[in-house]
Amino acid sequence: MPKVTNFDVIVIGTSQGGRFLPMAFSKAGRKVALVERGPLGGVCVNSGCTPTKTMVASARVAYLARRAADYGVRTGSISVDLQAVRKRKQDMVEGARNNFAGLITEVQGLDLDLLTGEARFIAPKTLEVSLKEGGTREITAPLIFIDTGGRPKQLAIKQVGNVSVLNSTTIMELDSLPEHLLIIGGGYIGLEFGQMFRRFGSQITIIQHHPRLLMNEDEDVSDEITKIFREDGITVLIGGTPQRLEQLGDNRIQLTVRTREGEQQVNGSHLLAAIGRVPNTEALTPEAAGIRLDKSGYIEINERLETSVPGIYALGDVKGGPAFTHVSFDDFRILRTNLLEHGSASTRDRVVPYTIFIDPQFGRIGMSEREARKQGRNIRVAKLPMNAVIRALETGETRGFMKAIIDADTKQILGCAILGLEGGELMAIIQVAMMGKLPYTTLRDAIFTHPTLAEGLNTLFVTIDS
Ligand SMILES: Cc1cc2nc3c(=O)[nH]c(=O)nc-3n(C[C@H](O)[C@H](O)[C@H](O)COP(=O)(O)OP(=O)(O)OC[C@H]3O[C@@H](n4cnc5c(N)ncnc54)[C@H](O)[C@@H]3O)c2cc1C
Repeated sequence: MPKVTNFDVIVIGTSQGGRFLPMAFSKAGRKVALVERGPLGGVCVNSGCTPTKTMVASARVAYLARRAADYGVRTGSISVDLQAVRKRKQDMVEGARNNFAGLITEVQGLDLDLLTGEARFIAPKTLEVSLKEGGTREITAPLIFIDTGGRPKQLAIKQVGNVSVLNSTTIMELDSLPEHLLIIGGGYIGLEFGQMFRRFGSQITIIQHHPRLLMNEDEDVSDEITKIFREDGITVLIGGTPQRLEQLGDNRIQLTVRTREGEQQVNGSHLLAAIGRVPNTEALTPEAAGIRLDKSGYIEINERLETSVPGIYALGDVKGGPAFTHVSFDDFRILRTNLLEHGSASTRDRVVPYTIFIDPQFGRIGMSEREARKQGRNIRVAKLPMNAVIRALETGETRGFMKAIIDADTKQILGCAILGLEGGELMAIIQVAMMGKLPYTTLRDAIFTHPTLAEGLNTLFVTIDS
């Protein structure tokens, strides 16, 4: 029988939640094991937020450079060096990863063991770790935190094995520009990559199975984004269900799509599948510990992030629900509050903001108009095109609109959708008002600096009374 090492706490995965928990527990004097099978930092740092937003920044520079003449600035012809873009991204990722590695070393004086390898449950509180360096180790603890996240869902259509299919990770390692990138999926990952590669110089076709892009947003949001993407020269094929793939000569890929009008062939040089993500629970074998999963493989938790097994918790994407880094970090805060600070935190009534880093940015929080109407709420809707915002006009970036949903009785803001320059930052201002339960009139009558984008909020909320 292999010897089992006892810890007070085991954390599996080193993402937002997984990186802070081990440190918090070791600083509190606990003996902690942290297990990671991949690069330190998880998806956000290595293949999610950090690399994509770094590349989005390069794409935006290319976009503005091409529009230089609009601002009276002369430039030469614009071209993008994808290898240099990738190098900038890789440096950024490496910096973030090293930063995290440094944090762990800092607490090395405390009782924190980093085990590099894949963990799987072999009994309720016992894990076997297949170490990268070879061999296995058995570890046990009364407290276990699962932060194993997710990975891209694989495309499953006929003859998919015939072609090379990119995912959100592999596309960022291309060293030459796709001539024509086909993207299956009109969610946020498909949109961010679609616009990014269009700006780098590729032709883009987005194939969306649903009747509109960003299916969970209000229709006016989807329509405006579709309009913007088409203006940018991106082909958006709505309501198209991918059927089969074929590798043609000349490195061409042919995708057959079923539409209402019949079958249609779309040809491209590369194919990106951006069709969602699946939880990393197979290799972990949580069922060996009696941990219940839902039918999609996500770990079932309650509002205190407790799994079906006492002492075992799940945080981040692996538990389902909104899959964002700030959610994973908030999960960490809940666990720290409850387990180290004797508090009583939960996910109940948690309002999760998000930003989609297309250009113009799309910031969202709270209820959409559709959700509010479905609930039969008595609402008023404030809406303002960005071309009515002086700052947007001055900077020549007037696409999109701001929209806020207001409870007609309490005058409080229920939610907002800001599709516009720095939409994520503007949304955060409204988020703070929502957190403070302020009536919309406070923002309507606030003094904001002229000329900032925030000043547009005065005008947005004035529309309610006009
Ligand atoms: C392309 C892309 C762009 C994104 N952009 C944004 C954004 O702009 N903003 C935002 O908020 N979110 C963004 N996200 C989502 C964000 O990255 C995730 O929500 C976040 O990383 C989830 O963190 P997590 O705690 O679930 O763990 P993850 O980051 O998924 O990390 C889990 C870790 O667990 C490890 N692991 C898994 N199984 C095992 C095992 N059995 N043993 C040992 N280790 C294991 C993995 O190697 C991994 O390191 C993006 C995601 C993608 C893919």
